[in-house]
Amino acid sequence: MVDLLQIHEPGETPLPHADDASVAIGIDLGTTNSVVAISTDGKTQVLRDDDGQALVPSVVAYAPDGSAVVGALAKRLLLDRPDCVVSSVKRLMGRGVGDLKALAGTLPFEVEPPKEGSEGGMVRLRVAGHSLTPVQVSAEILTALKERAEEQLGQKVEKAVVTVPAYFDDAARTATRDAARLAGLEVLRLVNEPTAAALAYGLDKGAEGLYAVYDLGGGTFDISILRMEKGVFQVLATGGDAALGGDDFDHAVAEHFLGQRAKRLGARAITPSEAKMALMTARLAKECLSRQTEGEWVLDVDERQTGHRIDRATFEDLITPLVERTTDICRAVMDDAGVGPADVRGVVLVGGSTRVPMVRRRVAELFDARPLSDIDPDEVVACGAALQAEALTVGSDTLLLDVTPLSLGIETMGGMVEKIIPRNTPIPVAKAQDFTTYQDGQGAMSIHVLQGEREMADQCRSLAKFVLTGIPPMTAGAARIRVSFAVDADGLLTVSAREETTGVEQKVEVKPSYGLTEEEMGEMLYDSLRNAQADMDRRLLAEARVEANRALNAVVSALNIDGDLLDDGERAQVERVMAAVRDAVAGEDRDIINAAAEDLEKATREFAERRMDRGISAALAGQSVDGLVDDDEPAGNAATEPEKQDH
Ligand code: ADP
Ligand code: MG
Repeated sequence: MVDLLQIHEPGETPLPHADDASVAIGIDLGTTNSVVAISTDGKTQVLRDDDGQALVPSVVAYAPDGSAVVGALAKRLLLDRPDCVVSSVKRLMGRGVGDLKALAGTLPFEVEPPKEGSEGGMVRLRVAGHSLTPVQVSAEILTALKERAEEQLGQKVEKAVVTVPAYFDDAARTATRDAARLAGLEVLRLVNEPTAAALAYGLDKGAEGLYAVYDLGGGTFDISILRMEKGVFQVLATGGDAALGGDDFDHAVAEHFLGQRAKRLGARAITPSEAKMALMTARLAKECLSRQTEGEWVLDVDERQTGHRIDRATFEDLITPLVERTTDICRAVMDDAGVGPADVRGVVLVGGSTRVPMVRRRVAELFDARPLSDIDPDEVVACGAALQAEALTVGSDTLLLDVTPLSLGIETMGGMVEKIIPRNTPIPVAKAQDFTTYQDGQGAMSIHVLQGEREMADQCRSLAKFVLTGIPPMTAGAARIRVSFAVDADGLLTVSAREETTGVEQKVEVKPSYGLTEEEMGEMLYDSLRNAQADMDRRLLAEARVEANRALNAVVSALNIDGDLLDDGERAQVERVMAAVRDAVAGEDRDIINAAAEDLEKATREFAERRMDRGISAALAGQSVDGLVDDDEPAGNAATEPEKQDH
């Protein structure tokens, strides 16, 4: 209930729900980036860090002691210490070791070989000498988002709506929910990403009809066709490509750069550091070319520099085949659903890669409509989640019904599947169907719960198996066994089987066999609570160290390139401060480390200004790399700088 009078100091706005312990946040837990938002009275607000960044890179770096660093800091470590860093863990959510073959070669980290006899166990990652489940890694990301929210809102946050891709199966949804629990968050609801994006645009309050959500992220492409009817979003069809996204744009541009470089330096093998640098620079160039029509970047590796001018038209040529692939998939998905572009009322753009003007143009052409893009495409999903979180706590008119993403059924004789709840059924839902025995005197019946659209059991995902025992001896076909499926509002399934004449019943809550057991979950929760404060301190210390080391490295490389800008006295001064930073980093005091890093920043400010003034391409190369590494406005001025110098 809303207070009639809210009194606060003039000019001071009260924090949202500051007095309400039940504040709930919305989380977009992305493959590349994650975002947290909150909604107050139907107005959403994305929670940013001190630098105004909304995106938290979904990257976790682990220290030997098990402490973790999340986000931009962890991403910086990807270059130097890839063995300690996990990215794109979302691809493994809910996956069992049996799924690994299909993923082989597409994963940017090391997966543990399955242990003898652990058939069907959960995938585990090897990171910095630790063995971790994807659930634990995701929990670190969720913890970081929760902490960001608590810091910004000045209160504890214990509830969240978390989004998942529409195609996520039960196992992946359960894994996501487990990760949230591990992070100390109660998941009010898991909402499909496209549905959340549609909510953010208020499409649930608009005209009924079909909507398309085109989501092009870092490594994945998803297209969803939603039908809005009586306030219910139904996912009519989904499709996509789990290995197509902005990263592929980066590769196309990087190859272009390396091709030019090879021509100029003479053909020879590309070194790993060249490849890495080309990829980073390509990504910068790509993102700049969304705003400006041309620019120039320098590859400065292995002591050879090459300048690469690229304009938007060239970039568009490079990515045309990739963008066409997305529109082809859109057409195929619409065909499957029996709808045409003309039936679609509106298209929502989601994902950082939809900032590319050509992508927008192609989508507009395909649907013959201007796509909805007023809300930042990488924040829109989190905003929708926040609206739903508010609706589920304080209440609002954005109450959403979700649907089952895939059909649910059981295996029948001969390995066939009998679907009990078809896909796209609004949830919560309960349905039952009667089955009978196959043999005379059959005393038990094995129930194998499956999820998927295929007809044969071995082509669907196995969710659970259990046995109904105590069926009284009867002739084949006489027993009546009622199998009931219930899916709750989060898409989680409970299955029960009951013999109707005797009333014997068996019930299972479907926890996929490769999910965490209650026991494992309990243990992890216990550990994480016990260690919460220590973990927090370790995390802050680790962050301070990473940040200080990064600053040191930046100064070292600046001195290598432009050391002549300092006279001997100045240089000695800078080196004194650098030594102090090194000492601080070796110590255990976070405040001292931070202070030393700040001193270094001050001591090198003048030097940095001189480097800027010099305005040479060598500085440009340094800058573009820094821009990427810093993850903020990527070296916008580097691209417009007309000066180019041949070495
Ligand atoms: P995900 O949903 O996979 O977590 P995001 O929606 O955050 O990913 O998208 C990340 C991708 O968006 C990256 O490939 C990034 O380079 C790309 N991107 C971000 N900003 C821009 C931009 N201005 N122009 C082009 N691509 C961009
Ligand atoms: Mg996304």
